Amino acid sequence: MKWQCIKVPKKEGEPTRRVLLELEILDHSVKIASDEKFLHLPLTRELTSVELEKLPEAAEPAVYEFEVQELKPTPEDLLGFSPGYEVIGDIALLEDEAPVPETASKIADVLLWTQPNVKTVLKPLTPVIGEFRVREFEVVAGEVRTETTHKEYGCRYKIDLAKAYFTPRLSTERSRVLAWIQEGETVVDMFAGVGPYSILIAKKASPVKVVAIDKNPEAVRLLRENIPLNSVKNIEAIEGDAREEAKKFAGTADHVIMNLPHSAHEFLDSAVLLTKPGGIIHYYGITPEDDLFEGSIKMVREAAERTGRKIEVLEKRTVRSYAPHQYNICIEVRIL
Ligand code: SAM
Repeated sequence: MKWQCIKVPKKEGEPTRRVLLELEILDHSVKIASDEKFLHLPLTRELTSVELEKLPEAAEPAVYEFEVQELKPTPEDLLGFSPGYEVIGDIALLEDEAPVPETASKIADVLLWTQPNVKTVLKPLTPVIGEFRVREFEVVAGEVRTETTHKEYGCRYKIDLAKAYFTPRLSTERSRVLAWIQEGETVVDMFAGVGPYSILIAKKASPVKVVAIDKNPEAVRLLRENIPLNSVKNIEAIEGDAREEAKKFAGTADHVIMNLPHSAHEFLDSAVLLTKPGGIIHYYGITPEDDLFEGSIKMVREAAERTGRKIEVLEKRTVRSYAPHQYNICIEVRIL
């Protein structure tokens, strides 16, 4: 059956699939098709020109003859509505606005039945809170645990959702930062968590060294397990306060990653201290729609000027919508 799709060279297949998944436009009723050089990713509708720009350059709209698969019932077929959830490793995590207990357990049963990879269903009891950015959960159904192993861009991460921060929603963002790193550079990941930026970069970009810092002992315990799990050697995992550790690595970083969006601005002096002349800070913030970037750029500029340095803004982008009228943003700034 002929279907609209995105045609993309195989090596760009995974990033393209992820963008289409994020846009919720990948058609699961037919199988992704491939020939020698290309993947054909089926779509539920045409992409807008803005959506098309999010795809790798080599991706293009096309039409393809797909094999129609025998359809299994979906959670929507069984429930009569589409439940909000995301899958992390073999855990299905129900959306923040968790439904009432009976509905949650009905959704959980349906997910366990229809999604063979899902072994546990969790419901968040709190938002992401506190210095360590973690949340509490209730196990609604399945195996009673919050640990899992999640795969992303050819890396594997041991995770404990109740003990250390992790979200698969930043996977595309992590690959964007990876693209900035050149072979032989030094990277400091000030708020590394279980290591999804650090390990991806250490594995794929061949830096001389990645310094991965986190204050949460549980995050660093998992990070230390994830380093051998991914056979990477060029990472130093440090349990500590990024402000204190920055003093030990002053002037060594070609790249500083500041993925602590609610309070990264409080650590800007340390980030500047870490950055070599000409190095780049990848700064994350949560900002209102009427001041997406300028307020953050001003804070970076002021931090640089406090030590007589200047900045050059290289890129600014919204990563995702965070709350009504609020966005998670990233700015790449060179510190001269
Ligand atoms: N980069 C990781 C990721 O993408 O999964 C983790 C990001 S999470 C939003 C921020 C992390 O910063 C948490 O793991 C938290 O424990 C850590 N953190 C908070 N304050 C810190 C500090 N003063 N020094 C070092 N790490 C800190």
